Amino acid sequence: MNLPISFDPPHRLLLGPGPSDCHPRVLRAMAAPLLGHLDPAFTGLMNNLQDLLRKTYQTKNPLTMAISATGMAGMECTLVNLLEPGDKIVVCAAGHFGHRMIEVANRTGAHVIPHTVPWGKVFDLNQIREILQNTRPKVLGIVHAETSTGALQPISELGKLCHEFGTLLAVDAVTSLGCVEVDVDGWEIDAVYSCTQKGLSCPPGLSPVSFSERAAEVIKNRTTPCQSWYLDLGMLMKYWGQDRFYHHTAPISMNYALYEGLRVVTEEGLQARWARHKLHHNALRAGLETLGFAYATQPDAILPQLNAILIPEGLEDLPIRKAMLEEYGIEIGAGLGDFRGKIWRIGLMGYNARRDIVMQVLSALGSVLIRKGHKCDVGAALAAADATY
Ligand SMILES: *Cc1c(COP(=O)(O)O)cnc(C)c1O
Repeated sequence: MNLPISFDPPHRLLLGPGPSDCHPRVLRAMAAPLLGHLDPAFTGLMNNLQDLLRKTYQTKNPLTMAISATGMAGMECTLVNLLEPGDKIVVCAAGHFGHRMIEVANRTGAHVIPHTVPWGKVFDLNQIREILQNTRPKVLGIVHAETSTGALQPISELGKLCHEFGTLLAVDAVTSLGCVEVDVDGWEIDAVYSCTQKGLSCPPGLSPVSFSERAAEVIKNRTTPCQSWYLDLGMLMKYWGQDRFYHHTAPISMNYALYEGLRVVTEEGLQARWARHKLHHNALRAGLETLGFAYATQPDAILPQLNAILIPEGLEDLPIRKAMLEEYGIEIGAGLGDFRGKIWRIGLMGYNARRDIVMQVLSALGSVLIRKGHKCDVGAALAAADATY
């Protein structure tokens, strides 16, 4: 057999919906030698990682840790642990990931009540109140930042509302954590999950989760065993807790990565980090609008870290994304589901929320558009972005 050449990835700027580029400090951290997963040095790192996660999630929840798999495992872990066959869950779905939550919940044997609004829109709290009143579900699931539509769901009052009806609030914070505010305790969230490869600027591979005391109580009082052995929080707690009971081999290097990624977040400060995302979003938005783009998202709900823009009439989706990738090494995201072929998604997440990157993507996109026959003024777009600084 001919030995294939060693893999040297081409240079890319990852401005899609994720993964986003790693922080250089995270990549360096991953190159450190392995430790045994029960080595006191490693379990010490796990404890510190949990503290950093609590800071990032703004929670005191003891049950806060990183699931050894990507964001979808966080979703699955949340649903299979909170739900037993026959339980009721309302899932608010306004995009691809809301619909996935319905699919995952369906497999638990729970009775799933979908509540949908058109893609690009967000939910109305009064309507949710009515549904809670009529259905009294055990859990309400919602996506905070719907990556398929670029919409930020306002959820700061939702936990309180759910608790009026004895319902637990489960939140998908996969695209929001590290980019916009997520206040788990202040917003009374009972279960939350995220990922490492979007706002936290680490590789994909872990899913940070946190569960309130209320949720922990519900999990403890289950009458049927959790249908997933690997994601059974009862056992995972014993590994991440004092017992250090062997459950699975933690992905050591990924935990180094997340630890360093969270150190970067904490060093910058949460408020400063959210402000930075907003700042560079404003610049990108000014540039994109000058290039002639409109957003696909409800105007008061636009996510700073993920810009979902409508593809102008007469332009083709794939050739332009291909030119961006091949000629400029820039990856931007395509539309999913209802938005397939209709939008592009430009992410400025974590380490990538920077002024140089805003200018780079605007000038590359502008040049490609002109070449494809779309009339636009790239100089004016760059000036408009620059003026916001
Ligand atoms: C990316 C994403 C997921 C899935 O996470 P993976 O890490 O790809 O498994 C779930 N929910 C939302 C909102 C996402 O954007």
